Amino acid sequence: MQSSELLAEKLVKKAVLLADGAMGTSLFELGLKSGDAPETWNTLQSSKIRMHYQSFIELGCDIILTNSFGGNSLRLHLHGLSDRAFELSRISAEIGRDLIDKNNNEVVLAGSVGPTGELIKPIGKLSYKNAVEVFHEQIEGLRAGGVDVIWAETLSDPAEYTAVSEAASLANVQWFGTMSFDTKGNTMMGFTPSNLVSLIEDLPLKPIAVGANCGVGPADLVRTILDMKDASLPLIAKANAGIPEFIDGEIFYNGVPSLMAEYALLAKRAGAKIIGGCCGTSVAHIKAINTALLTSTDDSPPSLQEIEAKLGRFSGNPGTRVRRKRNRRNR
Ligand SMILES: [Zn+2]
Repeated sequence: MQSSELLAEKLVKKAVLLADGAMGTSLFELGLKSGDAPETWNTLQSSKIRMHYQSFIELGCDIILTNSFGGNSLRLHLHGLSDRAFELSRISAEIGRDLIDKNNNEVVLAGSVGPTGELIKPIGKLSYKNAVEVFHEQIEGLRAGGVDVIWAETLSDPAEYTAVSEAASLANVQWFGTMSFDTKGNTMMGFTPSNLVSLIEDLPLKPIAVGANCGVGPADLVRTILDMKDASLPLIAKANAGIPEFIDGEIFYNGVPSLMAEYALLAKRAGAKIIGGCCGTSVAHIKAINTALLTSTDDSPPSLQEIEAKLGRFSGNPGTRVRRKRNRRNR
């Protein structure tokens, strides 16, 4: 079956599509050192990347992401690897393509695209044109390696979201796009979930689905999905496994698999069509999510009280102005 047909068929036939869990968390468990570029493992440790993909395919994911989140030239520049963006992205896709095709798996291979790490003008120094070029190079690499679709995530700036859309249009490939609403319900640029719903109507190429990933915790993420209910496209929910906590300089996620199962049920009731996990989400979490979704029949949108009761308190209110630290100290 043609890959675009497979995705279209899944979107029509299935009530919810299961996406995968965290890449970084999984690679750290397999021995990646913090500070190393995960994308170098596409060549240095390709059997472990294959193992990671395999683990999520085996438990029934409809969509898996490539190991290319930081694979654009600006992010790789931090590791002295800026000239390898196309190659490392291509290989991240080739490993997945080979695995899926050999086993005849009905799995959509999505090419992960993360932020460049640079802010676009006028806030930062990166020109919009350059941002498009950087994303386009990576997306062409992912295409050459055989992805079915592009999956951009953890974006916070509407200009960056638009640049990905333009790059996907140049590469003639469909894409998904999620933002991270990690600052009291808004992105760090102050962009709200409903701002994103409006933005998609004016893009060079609309995504197939829109939504939220990462952020603070599952409660905030489900509320974000509720706030996007007017979107004309399917919604994506990819929450972290609980709230991130710093312990002895390391980051931990406090969510157990049963909490992520609750999150998935609430995300579905809030209107999410594609559900997976972000940072801290292991195979055990996605397994619990899958089991919960297979037996869920309730489709009534949850109240904010129910979300807080089941998943914990919200971190703040979206749409309200984010207070500056200075103001907070003066209170
Ligand atoms: Zn994350």
